[in-house]
Amino acid sequence: MAILITGGAGFIGSHTCIELLNEGYEIIVVDNFSNSKPESLKRVCEITGKSIMIYYLDLLDSESLEKVFLVNQIEAVIHFAGLKAVGESVKESLKYYKNNITTTIIICDLMQKYSVKKLVFSSSATVYGLPDTVPISEEFPLKALNPYGRTKLMVEEFLQDIFISDNEWSITILRYFNPIGAHESGLIGEDPSGTPNNLMPYITKVAVGQLKVLNIFGNGYSTKDGTGVRDYIHVVDLANGHVAALDKTLKSTGVNIYNLGTGIGYSVLEVVSAFESATGVKIPINITHPRPGDAAICYADPMKAEKELNWIAKKSIHDMCADSWRWQSRNPNGYKINEELENPRLIQSEDFLIPNN
Ligand code: NAD
Ligand code: UDP
Repeated sequence: MAILITGGAGFIGSHTCIELLNEGYEIIVVDNFSNSKPESLKRVCEITGKSIMIYYLDLLDSESLEKVFLVNQIEAVIHFAGLKAVGESVKESLKYYKNNITTTIIICDLMQKYSVKKLVFSSSATVYGLPDTVPISEEFPLKALNPYGRTKLMVEEFLQDIFISDNEWSITILRYFNPIGAHESGLIGEDPSGTPNNLMPYITKVAVGQLKVLNIFGNGYSTKDGTGVRDYIHVVDLANGHVAALDKTLKSTGVNIYNLGTGIGYSVLEVVSAFESATGVKIPINITHPRPGDAAICYADPMKAEKELNWIAKKSIHDMCADSWRWQSRNPNGYKINEELENPRLIQSEDFLIPNN
């Protein structure tokens, strides 16, 4: 029996593949590589010495996806695949609704048809909108502020309806806070295309000399130093949260929702300072206007995940900065193969397959 991972070549998916393989799970990845490269999965195999079955297909292509269910014994699905850029979701909302909502309907439909009723879904802290207080617990009111957030909220709602209509389902919704960092090997990490929108990839691009200065979006918030505060979580901790969530999903039925965060908020200036002290690299900054729609403070109450999943984030902001930098400095162009990476690499897997359909 295998775990099907949609979007497994992406930032969070690839790190989760490693932790699942290390736990002994057999995994199958489906990805259209619209925001990732097959190279990330080659490196997952290299890091773990294990093999993955990979299907290069779009989840909107339900016929090809059905073949994956037909020829494999799938026990559960972890559904990472989706588009995630807030700004782009405003400009291209239909693309977001189609890619984030239709794909989830298609996959749930096939899961129902093949009696694979165990799902872990990637949601986001964005569903809390602009919270009135912190820390944010799972019972806080939900409000999406942009099309991306609405796709997450709508999927959360219809997943609850699926369980109401069929109590055999076991669905775990994970609301991520701000994932940063990279695997400690420096072989895999976040590889945004174009200029990054998020803080840490922007900082590492400044550090590696590809961007000149970090623009800080406002220093007039009611926070410790006036800059925005977020709950940054190491992507390996987040990946381990999926292993814990999968374990519970496999053993139960119902819909469970968990925040995955550290419970600690750091300001933008604190992150810059932590990065400088972890790496010795100075980050030039420029204070500019607040970004529309940004919350001043956002951090999780992660107690529910601790109690029910027996999971807790362990890595510090220092680890997050050091690991982000190890990945970026060794791979200045991300997964674009540079000279060093063209050297022969050990790929243990003989069934490193990328069928076209
Ligand atoms: P990512 O873009 O790195 O990974 C997503 C993967 O899904 C990519 O490999 C992409 O090629 C694939 N994909 C997208 N559409 C697809 C489709 N139609 N068919 C097949 N594959 C498709 O993103 P990530 O950071 O790893 O995020 C994973 C999930 O977590 C997303 O659903 C995202 O919305 C959610 N999330 C991310 C963050 C974050 O800050 N990274 C925060 C909260 C929630
Ligand atoms: N931020 C910033 N400059 C950037 C990117 C982000 O000052 O180039 C700030 C942003 O205003 C927020 C924090 O860094 O306070 C985290 O932003 P990110 O986009 O990474 O996460 P999100 O705001 O989506 O939680």
